[in-house]
Amino acid sequence: MNWITKFIKPKIKSLFKKKLSDNNEALWISCECKNLVYKDELYNNLSVCPSCGFHHKLTSEERFKIFFDNKKFEILETPLPKDDPLKFPKYSEKLKQSREKTKQTDAILIADGNLDGIRITVGAQNFNFIGGAVGAASGEAFIHGIQHAINNKTPFIFFSCSGGQKMQEGAIALMQMTRTVLAVNELKKNSLPYVVVMTNPTTGGVSASFAMLGDILIGEPKSVIAFAGRRVIQNTVKEDLPEDFQTAEFVKDHGGIDLVVERKYMRSTISTLLSILLKKKEVQNISEVNEESSISETLQKTSKAV
Ligand SMILES: [Zn+2]
Repeated sequence: MNWITKFIKPKIKSLFKKKLSDNNEALWISCECKNLVYKDELYNNLSVCPSCGFHHKLTSEERFKIFFDNKKFEILETPLPKDDPLKFPKYSEKLKQSREKTKQTDAILIADGNLDGIRITVGAQNFNFIGGAVGAASGEAFIHGIQHAINNKTPFIFFSCSGGQKMQEGAIALMQMTRTVLAVNELKKNSLPYVVVMTNPTTGGVSASFAMLGDILIGEPKSVIAFAGRRVIQNTVKEDLPEDFQTAEFVKDHGGIDLVVERKYMRSTISTLLSILLKKKEVQNISEVNEESSISETLQKTSKAV
């Protein structure tokens, strides 16, 4: 790569009829604002477009790198259930490709580290892994993350980015909605803060379960936060919907979430929130002793009841 490759956009270069190699093309990213942004410039700006402020998607690891103190964190090993329980057509192949592409076993990664010196457990969904869809493996990862937070008495922060549940796992995927909600309940019984950052997009079963249950709900600017898609609603209500319908700003204005926070302020905002919430916890602990609880016990009890 030389300075010409770095600073001259592919479009301009094409005027000189020079054929770009694949490698050169990959140096630029096309943004929502139709501008081509140099990849390094985008990464140095937390993957936020310098021209229009669009917040581009991050992988789970990229999210951890910009969120934890000094980019230091430990990714936890989470249980991996049997693949493709329903033998859904082409699903095994898709899993294999996604694992090769993302170097993750499923869409959710859990990590342990610090934020401004506060020990935290963080989960993040990777949209590159089958649209961040939740099935048994993601459900297990989420629950493992919550159990880790309870065992180590840390707050739990989750960055959601998903189209919903995995259709390839049918009812097993839908069951994860209840299981993750029960897990969040255990976290709350232990008076540990749960903060959710909804990134673009947070939709379907994810928005209808664990993502909406944070003590504080934060949206990244312009993120789509919804259950059903815009077109489905439009066709049902037969009315024109506002242009900003289902954006984080719209959802906040209608009381669905608490804050819309730019990525560059995410660390400082959550750090401030946690310091307030944890102080509250100390006050509570003086008057009441929390019973240690195990998520697996609760889940077992629930499944027996069913
Ligand atoms: Zn842009």
